Amino acid sequence: MRKTPSKPLGELALIDRIRHGSTRRATRSVALGIGDDCAILRPPAGNEILVTTDLSLEGRHFLRDRHPPESAGHRCLARGLSDLAAMGATPLAAFLSLALPATMLSTKRSLDWVDRFFAGLYHLASLHNAPLAGGDTSESPSGLILADILLIGSAPRGRSLRRSGARAGDALYVTGSLGGASAELANLLVRRSPYRSVNNLDGHPHLFPAPRLAVGQALLRRSLATAAIDLSDGLSTDLAHLCESSKLRAEIEQAALPIHPLARKLSREQALHAALHGGEDYELLFAAPPDQRIPRIISGVSITRIGTLKPRRTGQPEITLIEPSGRRSRLQPGGWEHFSASGKTTG
Ligand code: ADP
Ligand code: MG
Repeated sequence: MRKTPSKPLGELALIDRIRHGSTRRATRSVALGIGDDCAILRPPAGNEILVTTDLSLEGRHFLRDRHPPESAGHRCLARGLSDLAAMGATPLAAFLSLALPATMLSTKRSLDWVDRFFAGLYHLASLHNAPLAGGDTSESPSGLILADILLIGSAPRGRSLRRSGARAGDALYVTGSLGGASAELANLLVRRSPYRSVNNLDGHPHLFPAPRLAVGQALLRRSLATAAIDLSDGLSTDLAHLCESSKLRAEIEQAALPIHPLARKLSREQALHAALHGGEDYELLFAAPPDQRIPRIISGVSITRIGTLKPRRTGQPEITLIEPSGRRSRLQPGGWEHFSASGKTTG
């Protein structure tokens, strides 16, 4: 009787392709990468390990007919890298579990999507020394693509930036600018034809976000921040997380918010909404003591003071927005879950 191969040929061929695209040399952090039963990692002495995973689902996190495959690969890795950045960690290795529809594994033409997905992922991985050191591959019975990224990072023991370390009186800062990702997404959804490819990744905050690893690492190394979080769900939602973890409340100066040029093309109200609630900017939000001097630029990224943390009192809103006129209003968390069928907020 002929033995049925334990894995369909398409899967094995795919792993081969993935392996050939990845760095085959052992890196400083990866003693053994793709090809064996486990990868072997070597964290620097005196460091501890940080782990984060993020699911990217077709239809929820990207659209096959709208996002260039390179963008889907880039965004998949960027989400994990941004979590490491938020804690000041340095990437050691990435692992990717991938479920693909059978049709994508069968023909050379359909493998094109996969190759371009990995080109996008590998490009970002090489920028941040985050070698793909393993993963798993399976056919997706639903016909939808699913990519689950696992990132392993390291940071000096006990020094990682947490959400919970802020103190009353600390100033709040953000990196880069806000609202760009949601403004670009809105354009993407109404474009008549989808993007074929993008040559310059700069200026595409939704398609090719830039996780702020160097800033996070500098904040940790120079002991500048008391707490940090990355802006994945939107300022209003992620600031609420930081406030809850640190048991504080926040006041935000509307006029201080750095609005991304793409969002500035919208109406003033829409631009403000994008900056406060848009999500997926993957900037960092951090707190620092009021007497701590914070450079205006860290690792080439602009840093803007946007508000202050205050002691929490019952009856007071968790986040207060101070308008240019001085009018104060309660800011409700309103992070938006893109492409969600129910259109629910992430909360
Ligand atoms: P096993 O059955 O022992 O888990 P696999 O055949 O699934 O091994 O995988 C073989 C090698 O290829 C492993 O080193 C695994 O980490 C790697 N690999 C499988 N799928 C992927 C993927 N999607 N991305 C990166 N590496 C992968
Ligand atoms: Mg396996």
